[in-house]
Amino acid sequence: MQHDKIITEAGSKNDTPRPKIFEFPLPQAGQRMESGFFNLPPSVEFDATSVIDALYVHIPFCTSKCHYCDFFSLAGHLDQADTFLDALGRELDLQVTHFGRPAPKTIFIGGGTPTLLPPEALARLMAQINSAIKFDRLTEFTVEANPNTFDVHRAKILLSGGVNRISFGAQSFSATELAVLQRDHNPESVPVAMEIARRAGIDNLNLDLIFGIPGQSLVDWDKNLTRAIELDSTHLSCYGLMYEPNTPMTARMKQGEFTPASDDLEIAMLQHTRDRLAAAGFARYEISNYAQVGKACEHNINYWKARNHLAIGPSAAGYHSGYRWKNVQSLTRYIDALNSAAPVVPITEIERLTGLARWGELAILNLRLTEGIVTHDFKQRTGVDVMAILNPLLQRYQSMGLITIRDGTIALSEAGIAVSDTIFADVLEAFAQFAPRQRGS
Ligand code: SF4
Repeated sequence: MQHDKIITEAGSKNDTPRPKIFEFPLPQAGQRMESGFFNLPPSVEFDATSVIDALYVHIPFCTSKCHYCDFFSLAGHLDQADTFLDALGRELDLQVTHFGRPAPKTIFIGGGTPTLLPPEALARLMAQINSAIKFDRLTEFTVEANPNTFDVHRAKILLSGGVNRISFGAQSFSATELAVLQRDHNPESVPVAMEIARRAGIDNLNLDLIFGIPGQSLVDWDKNLTRAIELDSTHLSCYGLMYEPNTPMTARMKQGEFTPASDDLEIAMLQHTRDRLAAAGFARYEISNYAQVGKACEHNINYWKARNHLAIGPSAAGYHSGYRWKNVQSLTRYIDALNSAAPVVPITEIERLTGLARWGELAILNLRLTEGIVTHDFKQRTGVDVMAILNPLLQRYQSMGLITIRDGTIALSEAGIAVSDTIFADVLEAFAQFAPRQRGS
């Protein structure tokens, strides 16, 4: 999953949307085909020396739709699992033909609820991935699971497919809070699912948690953190609840069913999370992510470092050499495009980030990380002196205590994290303002 927002896992979970403020002229790349979809630019357009570090696979099925969720997922439709996997296999083939057989360092199967697939379908998915990629460099293979849809049979299938990390959507250990979110599991199912994973031999386990749930106090949130620590997961993703447009949660809020948590409470929860988890041995390595030593999620770090990644499945978003594209957000159209006589990758959006537009985006992605922008690495990769571009902004933010500049790194302070969206917009603006002067020189 990747995130443009502190809050939920992003849209399609590997899709970090470009902030609205990002107003560089971004040429649409790729030609629209007769099918109405865009084609991928020819292979020569992609930097052959730049390898593919990650693969994301989107499985769009869920048992029911949680009320806050704006990811592309559908309740039911499992009767289409086989047809969907036919299409997914074809997309994998097309992408391998285009990019060559990738040797990613990380794989992430998200959704949706991948573990909702029947065991035979899950085994087929594992076989498809195993035959499409090289495992030489693979260090981390994560599958997302709903605690209610995880069992011994599925755990064994995942393990034998190479999976070594499970990310459980726990969200809360309070039955009341889960009911507010309309999650379909109960708090007791989380430790049961974790135990199943561990017994099967998968002990690198993430728990997703949500704070700022209506009615939740700081004490309530602390109880959730305490329970997560007791369960000894290796990684915790803690997101504030977002009210996305067109979700039932937002409609309920607008109808006055509840009042959202105040900004002050959310900030207090964010800060308490950092302190509570630090005391328990979890280091924060990104705004919303905490890990025990050596257990940071490498897959998401690939996104925050804008490394090349392929992505398959409906709504999945890939990135390579400054090109970014997104598949159609429809199960029917996805299946139809790939199961046709002339299958195509159903791309509905493609753009190419170039020059400072590309590096401005890299800067804000890096700023999400606790290590921040490592200026020497940034210059080596981009040829751009980030200090020179951001200098007036950095001086202002430093004097306000929002940014720290230390040992060749630029990072958000705790106060800066609380207003990160504003800072990101300003950083992009600084790159935009710099661009015309560069072009003129
Ligand atoms: S389980 Fe996850 S993907 Fe499915 S509806 Fe709930 S939040 Fe969305």
